[in-house]
Amino acid sequence: MLGIESQVGSPKLEAHMVKVEVLDHGFVELIDVMGSDEEVENAARISYGKGTRKVSQTRNLIRYLMRHKHTSPFEMCEVKFHIKLPIFVMRQLVRHRTANLNEYSGRYSIMSDEFYLPDEDYLQPQSQDNKQGREEGELGNTISDIHFEINRINDGAWMAYDNMINWNVAKELARVVLPVSNYTEVIWKTDLHNFFHFVKLRSDKHSQREIRDYADAMYHLVFPHFPLCCEAFEHYVRNAVTFSEQEMDVIKELLEHADTKAGLAGCMADYEGWHLGKRETKEFLEKIGKE
Ligand SMILES: Cc1cc2nc3c(=O)[nH]c(=O)nc-3n(C[C@H](O)[C@H](O)[C@H](O)COP(=O)(O)OP(=O)(O)OC[C@H]3O[C@@H](n4cnc5c(N)ncnc54)[C@H](O)[C@@H]3O)c2cc1C
Repeated sequence: MLGIESQVGSPKLEAHMVKVEVLDHGFVELIDVMGSDEEVENAARISYGKGTRKVSQTRNLIRYLMRHKHTSPFEMCEVKFHIKLPIFVMRQLVRHRTANLNEYSGRYSIMSDEFYLPDEDYLQPQSQDNKQGREEGELGNTISDIHFEINRINDGAWMAYDNMINWNVAKELARVVLPVSNYTEVIWKTDLHNFFHFVKLRSDKHSQREIRDYADAMYHLVFPHFPLCCEAFEHYVRNAVTFSEQEMDVIKELLEHADTKAGLAGCMADYEGWHLGKRETKEFLEKIGKE
């Protein structure tokens, strides 16, 4: 259903891609980009000055900024999309208040006659342990019967809407019969920092699969423009977790009893395979109280 499914994870290969189909009638198109990895670095150098250039190359600086939540340099870059999406996904997208948007007007224009019909593998039963989600399992009826029910409403709603338009009912009123599966369009713009925040929330497995598809597609299009920022985002935000004070106590206790012959700090210093730089190793040891 999502046109890019097989490509997610290798976004570097798609450097010039600007549009991705999502769901049955939707799409995401990246229509404008302001900035680059270098622009983030340039913005940050206002705070750190030229003197740091030798030690911190672009990648290192961006990783430092991301790691320490020095977010304002990322706000200097912007991404703008044209998105076609069902109204129920739009309702989730619009909650991201830091974005600027302009939506198709159902008061001014005729609404789309396209409606979202969930594909077979999207139609799943209610999750037992997550009241907001779905999970693998048996449904109480066949896919074709469920599709019949959805289409029955969509077709009836469109017929009622079309009739009212023909009877000269104002468009802003005729639309009240349309379901949230109806497609709408929006121009949506945000800065890179808030875009990453959006992706972190909406690409997550706790988000509804339909908006996840949109968030994944948007990230896929943005990645080639900011490869270093995206790499840092994945390492320090998207694929990172935080530990509570109590969880940290458990970790410390376990490490205390671990068989660390030369001591953990020694191991860390000696072993390059952790892929932590000198500075990150020091920060890590500080975090777990082993400096
Ligand atoms: C899995 C999931 C389930 C959800 N379930 C529900 C639900 O059941 N019901 C529901 O209503 N919503 C739900 N939401 C929406 C959620 O509560 C947020 O409104 C939405 O994700 C936007 O997040 P945000 O406010 O961080 O983003 P943005 O609005 O883009 O804001 C970004 C950041 O800016 C700051 N900020 C922005 N505006 C303000 C402000 N006015 N005051 C203080 N700080 C501000 C905050 O730090 C915020 O994190 C859900 C979201 C997710 C991801």
